[in-house]
Order: sequence, then C-alpha cells, then structure tokens
Amino acid sequence: MSRILRFLEEEKKCPHCEQKMSCCEAPPIHIGDGLGWGAEVLFICLNDNCSVFLNGWKTIEKRYGHHASYRYMELPESKEKNYMMVGNADAFKASVINKEELLAQNERHQRQKEMKAALQTCVADQNIEPVLFLLLDEGAGKESRGKAADCIVPLNNLDCIDPLRNHNFKDPALQQKVNSSLAQLLKKNFKKECPHCMEIIKAQAVKCKHCREDV
Ligand SMILES: [Zn+2]
Ligand SMILES: [Zn+2]
Repeated sequence: MSRILRFLEEEKKCPHCEQKMSCCEAPPIHIGDGLGWGAEVLFICLNDNCSVFLNGWKTIEKRYGHHASYRYMELPESKEKNYMMVGNADAFKASVINKEELLAQNERHQRQKEMKAALQTCVADQNIEPVLFLLLDEGAGKESRGKAADCIVPLNNLDCIDPLRNHNFKDPALQQKVNSSLAQLLKKNFKKECPHCMEIIKAQAVKCKHCREDV
C-alpha cells in the first residue's frame, strides 16, 4: 500500500501530448509476452487525442490487419518508453487509481490498526473507543470484531448500549453475540431496557420514568 502511495506522488507527462498520465492498476498478465509487469501500477496516457492513440489505429491495421491502437505507457520510477496495444478507447479507464479514495482507504486502514492495538488493553484502560469503533465498522474484520464484542461485559460501560443498538450488524452471529453481551451488561448493572421507549431503567422498575408506561 505505501509503495503504491509513493507511486501516486510521482507525476508523469506523456512525451507525445504533454498531458498528465494516469496511474492505473497493472493487469496481472503482460498482454505482449505473457510475463508479469513487475509493477503493481502503470502510468498510461489515456488522452484520446494523443497522437500515439490517434495514429495507432492505422499503424496496427497496416501492420497486423486488426482493429486496435496503442497507448503510451511508463512503469513507475522508470523513463523507459512502452507502447501498449488497446482494443478500444475505454481500455484501462476503469482501472485508473483514484488517489483521494486510496488515501482515505489507507487512513481507515491505519485507524483500524490503531484500534485493534488499543483493544488489547481496553478493559484495563477503561477505554470503550476501540470496542465501539471496531463493532460499528463493518469492514473491520470478523476476528477483531468478535474480540471487541467479548470486551462489552468486562468493560461494564452502559454508554455502549445506544450506539450498538442503533447499528445494523450484517453478520447475524455477531449481532447475536452483541445482543447477549448487552443483556448481560444490563443485568450486571441491575438495569433493563423499557420495552416501549428503549430507555435504560432500573431492573425492578414497574413504571418507566421516561415514557410512563407500565413495564
Ligand atoms: Zn499522450
Ligand atoms: Zn419507556
């Protein structure tokens, strides 16, 4: 990931049209000779008005007798000129790497890593943040979310109830685990949820102090 981010810092201009080249995910197979590119990303001139692309159709038609053209291409950290055959104008346009998206993804990944580390000591630290962060992040990974759910009862903090109740868990097993942990947490604190308004009330209450309904 950090290598790709470094490549994205690199700015390359097509020597044929002077336009900024796009950073694309490398296809797994070298179309020409069946070898890998040896790089995760490729810089490609995707300018449809680039002379390489405009003139390529005629050249290939003449030389090989089929309908294709070329795109100018360079590997990261290399000045070597490459020309890649493309069958249509859209080839590679779907694999352009969006820098902002990748940076956001990277940031989220870093935050997940921090939270997973903080989870190890969250009970001792009385820190509910990693538990909530991991449980509320559907992309955080089954194992660490399961561990986070295990911390609900030992953490003994009723503040986690509302956010967890309001979250829709895609994993039914995790949802069940969270529900049973919350039930234990309430019981441990001599509390219950009002079945009418869902506010937390005393376990022995007969009337909800929030909605005045009988419980
Ligand atoms: Zn160009
Ligand atoms: Zn109520």
